[in-house]
Amino acid sequence: MSSVKPVIIVHGGAKTISEDKVAANQAGCRSAVEAGWAVLRQGGSAAEAVEAAIRVLELDQTFNAGFGSTLNREGEVEVDAAIMNGATLAWGAVAAVQGVRHPIAAARKLMEERPCLLVARSGERFAHEQGLETCTKEALVSEEQYHEWKEEAEVLDRPNTVGCVALDVNGNLAAGTSTGGTTGQPQGRVGDSALVGSGLYADNQVGACSTTGDGESIIPVVLAKTAIDALRHQHPDEAAQLAIETLVSRVEGEAGCILLDPQGRIGWAHNSQDMAVAYMNEDLEQPATFTRKK
Ligand code: ASP
Repeated sequence: MSSVKPVIIVHGGAKTISEDKVAANQAGCRSAVEAGWAVLRQGGSAAEAVEAAIRVLELDQTFNAGFGSTLNREGEVEVDAAIMNGATLAWGAVAAVQGVRHPIAAARKLMEERPCLLVARSGERFAHEQGLETCTKEALVSEEQYHEWKEEAEVLDRPNTVGCVALDVNGNLAAGTSTGGTTGQPQGRVGDSALVGSGLYADNQVGACSTTGDGESIIPVVLAKTAIDALRHQHPDEAAQLAIETLVSRVEGEAGCILLDPQGRIGWAHNSQDMAVAYMNEDLEQPATFTRKK
């Protein structure tokens, strides 16, 4: 089989990005794409590339994933993540876990297991048993998020969910999403990011998608699957736009999504003011970065 041209695209969440955070959002997404691209160029799998890219974003406090996530009502970082393999439809997810440095890595390990979704203590125990990096729950709290929580400040540029979709040289697609959820959420609240069909979807025959935004609005319109279904007849940019329009027409809320089809064509859309995006393919010398769809 002739090799396929790899592609990777990441998002840094549907949100408003204040002027002073533009550079950090672009730099973070660029670094994530570079990490994933290095995997793809060496012939690594799409799922490996997605994990590599999201790991970078989970360490970057600019984004609402891993370290620096927004805090729940209790002032804790409690995160969700999921990953899906378009070749086999295998998926793995963790939700409402604390003290796991890279929830996307735990989700990827769960792709090989049954059950595939573990929450709270079970997810934390699984990560520990698998030898993944764990830490105290306090170690994931950034100073900025702590102050925001303490002052209950209404910040304009609250950090947001991250996601990645990739196409590897073997023509396999994968999608992943990782989030700290919503600011001040009650303990145990789980949004769309851990849910296949809503927060992500990947099917080699059609495409791959990662979403971001108001989980309570994304779930009832199964946003990722809605975008993938639209992709059967449309360019990824049109499919992404249609999925967001579907959400807006049926429920209120802000959302965004990134999409890739099996030919490596990309698309994204959002109805939030901004959404940081970066992508890379063989035609580019360096990743293309954006903070909003033109
Ligand atoms: N979708 C995430 C959630 O509802 C949050 C976000 O993307 O802003 O948990």
